[in-house]
Amino acid sequence: MRVALVTVGDELLAGETVNTNASWLGKRLSEQGATVERVSVVPDRLADIARVVNEYHAEYDAVVVTGGLGPTHDDITMDGVAAAFGREVVQSEEALAWIEEHGGYTREDLAEGTADIPAGARMLPNRAGVAPGCVIGSVYVLPGVPDEMKAMFEDVADEFEGARRYVETVEADEPESAMLDRIREVRERFDVKVGSYPGDPVRIRFESTDENAVESAAAWLRDRVEAPDRTE
Ligand code: ATP
Ligand code: MG
Repeated sequence: MRVALVTVGDELLAGETVNTNASWLGKRLSEQGATVERVSVVPDRLADIARVVNEYHAEYDAVVVTGGLGPTHDDITMDGVAAAFGREVVQSEEALAWIEEHGGYTREDLAEGTADIPAGARMLPNRAGVAPGCVIGSVYVLPGVPDEMKAMFEDVADEFEGARRYVETVEADEPESAMLDRIREVRERFDVKVGSYPGDPVRIRFESTDENAVESAAAWLRDRVEAPDRTE
């Protein structure tokens, strides 16, 4: 399953907030067997959100959007996602009922717009906050606040799936450039994805849905490189 992430927020683009939602979702989705193929950061601007959601919805099996929920003036994600589907936002009666029952607020307490989601979307309750998320088509709209986002993701995690992938990493105390022949050979011999990450030590990463292939490839290369000295 190929997934794209859209993280919304001016503060992310300005570097004031580190985009931990993207890295956390990347890891969790990979654990589920899904493959994250795009991560975009977009400003709190309706047209930008609508355009990228529309594009990714056409291209990927699922899209996960985080940030910009709730009733404040810069929270326009629901409007942007609704626009991508040519829908209006409507107040979710289901969300209001959930918040009254579990959230400790009456509907009169809530600022206008708090429970708005695109018409026809499936409401996702916010167990760690107030403003609901939603699913429309294969687009999942989650909060920006990391604890709220994580709790809501876990409610839908099983909807993201794919074959389990296995990973092994081999470390080498050699310059990457000196290893090019061996890296080429291991790629020819084994049907695995090979990544090479320079550094001290260089790390060669093997990935496949075939556990045996990953182990064999890693073992083959490990026998042929200078292992880092761990005694220092
Ligand atoms: P609220 O309902 O509280 O307004 P929200 O869903 O609208 O929440 P935002 O307003 O976008 O979320 O962001 C709330 C806070 O969550 C931000 O101040 C920021 O600290 C954090 N946040 C938002 N997006 C991210 C992200 N991608 N990675 C890490 N933290 C984030
Ligand atoms: Mg907000």
